[in-house]
Amino acid sequence: MVIKMIKENLAIVEQNIAEACKAANRKCSDVTLIAVSKTKPVELLQEAYDYGCRDFGENKVQELVEKYECMPKDIKWHMIGHLQRNKVKYLIGKTYLIHSVDSVRLAEEIHKEALKQNCTVSILVEVNVAGEETKYGTTNEDAIQLVAEISKFSNISIQGLMTIAPYVENAEENRQYFGKLKQLSVDIMNKNIDNVNMNFLSMGMTGDYQVAIQEGASFVRVGTGIFGERQYKCS
Ligand SMILES: *Cc1c(COP(=O)(O)O)cnc(C)c1O
Repeated sequence: MVIKMIKENLAIVEQNIAEACKAANRKCSDVTLIAVSKTKPVELLQEAYDYGCRDFGENKVQELVEKYECMPKDIKWHMIGHLQRNKVKYLIGKTYLIHSVDSVRLAEEIHKEALKQNCTVSILVEVNVAGEETKYGTTNEDAIQLVAEISKFSNISIQGLMTIAPYVENAEENRQYFGKLKQLSVDIMNKNIDNVNMNFLSMGMTGDYQVAIQEGASFVRVGTGIFGERQYKCS
C-alpha cells in the first residue's frame, strides 16, 4: 500500500462517507468516523486530531489509558477490543463508549466499577452476527436476552449494538450482516426495555464502511484507511 499523508487519507475517507450517506439518503451528521489508532504512536494521533478527528478507537486497555493521559482532553475514546474483567477498573471514567460488551459478567464488573466512581458508563453490546468461531460477541439468538439482563445494571447505559464483520475481499458480502445487526436493533427497540437505547450501530471498517453506512451504521471504525497498515511486533 502506498504510504500517504494522514491528511490525504482522511479527506478520502470523509469523501467516501459523504458519498455513502448521499446514496443512502442519510445525513452526514448521523455518521461518526472513529479513527482506529491501535499500535500507532501518539504523534500520528495528534496529526489526525489536528485535522479534526475527535473520536479515537483503541483495542487494548493499557494503550488507551496511556494515550488518554497524553492527548487533548476533548477526545472521545472508544474501547473497541475484547475487554477482560480484571482490566475494567483502569478504563472506567476514560471512555466515551465501550463497544465490546458481550457477557453479563463483564457488564457486572463495569457496573461495579462505575458505582465506585459514581458514574454511568455507556456501552454497546457486541454481536457476532456472522457466527464466526474466532470472534467474540453474543449470538443473534442470545442478544435480546443479554440486553435485557444488562439493562438491570443502574450504572450502565446501553446505547446500541456493535459487530465486527468477516474479513472479505468484496464488501458487498457483508451487507447481509450489517442488515442483520440493524434489524436486531429494531427488534430490541420494539421490546421497549427500560434503560435501553438503540441510538447507535457500530459497524464497518476500512474494507466495508461504505456498505455499513448504507445499512445504517452510526459509527464506522477505520484504522488502515487513515493511518496505513499496522505493524505488529513478533513476540
Ligand atoms: C482494528 C479494528 C478496526 C479497524 O480495522 P481497519 O481494517 O484497519 O480499518 C475496527 N474495529 C475493530 C474492532 C478493530 O479491532
